[in-house]
Amino acid sequence: MLGLMQDWPLLCHKVIDHAATYHGQREVVSRSVEGPIHRTNYAEVRLRALKLSQRLARDGIGIGDRVATMAWNTWRHLESWYGILGVGAVYHTLNPRLFHDQIAWIMNDAEDRMLFVDLTFVKLVELIAPKVPSLERIVILTDDAHMPETSLVNAVSYESYIAEADGDFAWAEFDERTAAGMCYTSGTTGDPKGVVYSHRSNVLHAMTALQPDMLSLASRDRLMPVVPLFHANGWSTAFSGPMSGCAMVMPGAGMDGESIYQMLTQEKVTITAAVPTVWLMLLQRMEKEGGALPDLSRVVIGGSACPRAITKAFQDDYGVDVVHAWGMTEMSPLGTLCSIKPEYAHLEGDEKLDLQTKQGHPPFTVEMKITDDENVSLPWDGSTFGRLKVRGPAVSSSYYKGRGAEQFDTEGWFDTGDVAHVDQFGYMQITDRAKDVIKSGGEWISSIEIENLAVGHPDVAEAAVIGVTHPKWDERPLLVIVVKEDRSPSKEDLIGFLDGKIAKWWMPDDVIFVDDIPHTATGKIQKTALRDQLKDYSFPGA
Ligand code: AMP
Repeated sequence: MLGLMQDWPLLCHKVIDHAATYHGQREVVSRSVEGPIHRTNYAEVRLRALKLSQRLARDGIGIGDRVATMAWNTWRHLESWYGILGVGAVYHTLNPRLFHDQIAWIMNDAEDRMLFVDLTFVKLVELIAPKVPSLERIVILTDDAHMPETSLVNAVSYESYIAEADGDFAWAEFDERTAAGMCYTSGTTGDPKGVVYSHRSNVLHAMTALQPDMLSLASRDRLMPVVPLFHANGWSTAFSGPMSGCAMVMPGAGMDGESIYQMLTQEKVTITAAVPTVWLMLLQRMEKEGGALPDLSRVVIGGSACPRAITKAFQDDYGVDVVHAWGMTEMSPLGTLCSIKPEYAHLEGDEKLDLQTKQGHPPFTVEMKITDDENVSLPWDGSTFGRLKVRGPAVSSSYYKGRGAEQFDTEGWFDTGDVAHVDQFGYMQITDRAKDVIKSGGEWISSIEIENLAVGHPDVAEAAVIGVTHPKWDERPLLVIVVKEDRSPSKEDLIGFLDGKIAKWWMPDDVIFVDDIPHTATGKIQKTALRDQLKDYSFPGA
């Protein structure tokens, strides 16, 4: 016997219909790439997305066609996503921080037919476009008055492109499992791998993301996704925001501490989300120049481990709750959030901060386990670490063109490549990427744990720990430090600071000071590049 409920396909454009119908006047505020603050609302965003769909349909773009975007978070980028989705085409976000050859490779792999690009990246696209034969048209996300001089053929302004449509258009109807979006993983080794989201997975994931133990979004919120839409499906904010009916504050290209501070305070943002490096910049700006965050109630921090010092500063100095999050491009991307369950509600001070260094517990729709190398499940005791595996309706079942098949097993588990432990209440803590774990005398040392402690030192701006070959122990930890302006801590200061906080045998064998630590295109510490830079380093006396 089947249920007698309506078969209502979970299509992404129903989200913007909902936002426009029930929260139509809710603001979407952006720092435009041209400069001024721009204000619109969900009703307008939907109407302009319909115009875009209509225009795309006229150009022969339809179900399954890939349309790339290379853009900051602004209202035009948001409209582009919905306009592309509305004809059944696939938004393909490009990360402009990748090397241009890598971007060309990705665009050719995806066979992008069109590209929507911000003014900031026009010069970059001039280098890339000639290498992508599938590209038919380039839409520059601006108006005619701001169109740049460009060698790009077939380039038009977004405003003139959609001006040719009146919006009298019906969204396309199709199966909810149809591809909706594409995002390539950062791919630190080998070719990048394409992750393909479906309409169904995006809608289910947004519903998951809204929950009180997740982002806890409500129509009264003002959400600022600092995390760019091109990083891991924009952490679902393009869907979860409109689904909740909250106002959206889009920071555009202003990613420095001062610009973020201005948007947070002037636009009365209540919830925001980004990687730790962004929050380091904001906190450094506030440490120097002062300021307060009276409207901000919570900040979601993920993409790499959130150092304890960041959590402490937000909570103790500015009264803002930190929600540590873990996820992956392959998971749409949210996997766990560290909200406080009743089992831990009694924790305060340092004990609460200890809990918040964990990446948290999964919502409904994410299943997780940890295993050894033979795929045997390991106990959830808060200390035994193993390979972290996940499955669920918004987790990849394979990569585009079947790459990376070894990461998926026959029971649907996806091997995340992360190493973690899980405690008795289901709180997961990442101890490393499998390839970054330091193997010393047959035991594992967590580089992340040492890094998190080291950035708590008042003179340290950034810290990374890598394993360096050692004649006796195989590998030993090396602590790499970037110091804050005008500070000069000694090696002994730093080692002394760690003393008593980690096991003796985890203590770094040496500390070195550098001007910069290399980062990936999504702002994470790039351990491969750092190891490469330090390949000639050997421990004193080793
Ligand atoms: P990406 O798909 O580029 O977002 O990268 C996903 C990877 O980032 C994960 O597999 C983790 O290795 C890392 N990651 C994401 N969030 C966290 C976090 N909160 N703590 C530690 N690592 C994280």
